[in-house]
Amino acid sequence: MTALLAAESVSAGYGDSRAVADLSFEVAPGEVLALVGANGAGKSTLLRVLAGAHRPSVGRVLLRGEDVTHVRDFERNRLGVCLVPEGRRLFPSLTVRENLEVGAGSRRDGRWTVDTVVDALPMLGDLLGRNASQLSGGQQQAVAIGRGLMSNPEVLLLDEVSLGLAPIVIDELYASLATVRGGGLGIVLVEQDLERTVAVADRLVCMLEGHAVLAGTPGELSRQAITDAYFGHE
Ligand code: ATP
Repeated sequence: MTALLAAESVSAGYGDSRAVADLSFEVAPGEVLALVGANGAGKSTLLRVLAGAHRPSVGRVLLRGEDVTHVRDFERNRLGVCLVPEGRRLFPSLTVRENLEVGAGSRRDGRWTVDTVVDALPMLGDLLGRNASQLSGGQQQAVAIGRGLMSNPEVLLLDEVSLGLAPIVIDELYASLATVRGGGLGIVLVEQDLERTVAVADRLVCMLEGHAVLAGTPGELSRQAITDAYFGHE
């Protein structure tokens, strides 16, 4: 079966420095693939390559078998790839509802509306009229995910969902991801928290200095092997 999203031998970097080196993987519909690795391993760069926000120096990105390597980010969004970047980047003077509606700008047909987003992310229910500048970090993250869903993506790229958030809020966001992934949405998740990653991911790719050093299902990979790959131990 054709993968929903595939990276084929992708390398990418900044000037002479290489951040992603010869990386390949596939994401199937409804699958959660997690990219695991220490700071600087190249995870965010890889997500940006998948989103069309960073041009790879070598390799291809395929969406449903079509080569989209040279398709720019806004156009790739229209084709069904949505990046929720680290740092959330909401419009602070707009309300939560308005921020969500911004995500519908390049909208495709699909299940997501303000109402279905609130069903999936219940913490937004009482906040629709509030300015984004008044939200907690967890609430902002929920809006950022909801805004991404509003474009009705086929692939959601999530960068550091839990960064800087309280554990109870992270629990709530991850519970929402279980709802969100239904309906065939593919998710590529970058997460520092290994426990959460192992709990939610169907497959893991461990990155070290731009390379994929270990890949498999959480059942196939021992915790020790993942930790060793994370820290670069032999
Ligand atoms: P983090 O968790 O810190 O975001 P990461 O695994 O996502 O780490 P990247 O942010 O992709 O890693 O960074 C990979 C490498 O590329 C690092 O060495 C980083 O310093 C470098 N890098 C990232 N962004 C830039 C940039 N805009 N210009 C130059 N080098 C960069």
